[in-house]
Amino acid sequence: MNIPIIDLHCHSNVSDGLLSPAELMSHAAENNVQAIALTDHDDIAGLSEASITAKSLNIIFINGVEISVTWKKRTLHIVGLNFDKDNKLLFQGLKKIRDGRYKRAQLMADGLGMAGIQGAMDGAKSYAKNSTIGRIHFAQFLVAQGYAKDISAVFKKFLTPGKPGYVDHEWISLEESIRLINGAGGDAIIAHPGRYDMGNKLYPKLFQEFKDLGGTGVEVMSGSQDPSQANYFSKLAANYNLFSSCGSDFHGKGISHRALGNVRSLPNDSIPIWTKWDQIKKLFH
Ligand SMILES: [Zn+2]
Ligand SMILES: [Zn+2]
Repeated sequence: MNIPIIDLHCHSNVSDGLLSPAELMSHAAENNVQAIALTDHDDIAGLSEASITAKSLNIIFINGVEISVTWKKRTLHIVGLNFDKDNKLLFQGLKKIRDGRYKRAQLMADGLGMAGIQGAMDGAKSYAKNSTIGRIHFAQFLVAQGYAKDISAVFKKFLTPGKPGYVDHEWISLEESIRLINGAGGDAIIAHPGRYDMGNKLYPKLFQEFKDLGGTGVEVMSGSQDPSQANYFSKLAANYNLFSSCGSDFHGKGISHRALGNVRSLPNDSIPIWTKWDQIKKLFH
C-alpha cells in the first residue's frame, strides 16, 4: 500500500507564503498531497478559500493556524489543527496577536529610520500586501533597496538582536495559545521543535508543561528541521503521551527548504495525530 501524503503545515499569502490559498491547494494536488492543513501565522482568513478548492480537488482539508508564543523568553510556534474556524474567542485572540504584530512593525520601522533608512514601513507594507507585516517584508524591502545582498544577509545586518530593525516582542503565553486552540475544539501542536535548539534538559520541560496545559502533539517531522532529529522527538513525544505530526512548512518556491507534501513518513514508534481524526483515518482503510 502506498503511504498517503499528509502535509499539516504550510503557508499562503495570507501570511508570509507566496501562493494564494487556492493556488496552494492546486499546487498540493500537483504534488499528490491527499490531506493538508493550511497554517498561516496568526491568521485563519485563508481557510474558507483553501477548503473549497481542496474539496474540488478531492484533497482532505484540515483547518490550521500557526501561533507565535513566548515561553521562557523564547519565541515558539504552536500549530493549531482541526478546530472550528468560526469560533469567536479564537478569532478575537488571533486579531489581538496581529494588532501586536503591527505595533512591532512600526517600532521596527522607527529603528530603521534612526539608522538612516527612510520609508521602511511603506516599503514593507508593499510586500506584505493584504497580510500582516512581518520581518520578512522588511527584509524584502531592504534587499530591494540594496542595503544587503540577500534575505539572510539582511537579517544578520538589520533584523536580529542588537541590530537597528530588531524589536524585542512579547507574544501570547503558551497557556493562552493552547486555550484558544482547545477552546475551538482543536489540537495544539509544538511546531518544528528542532529549531529551538534547547538542549536535553529544556525540551522535556517544554513537553511536560505543554502536555499539562492541554497540548496534543509535536511536529516530529518538519521541513524546517533536520530529519535526523525525528527519532529523538518521536521518543520524547511518546514519553509525554503526545501525538506526532508532520508538515513541510512550505512557504513558496525559492523560500522553502522542502517542497509542498515532501514530508517523510513518521518514525514507527510514533502515534500520528490523524489517528484522532475521522477525516484522515479513512485514507488508511
Ligand atoms: Zn514556524
Ligand atoms: Zn510555519
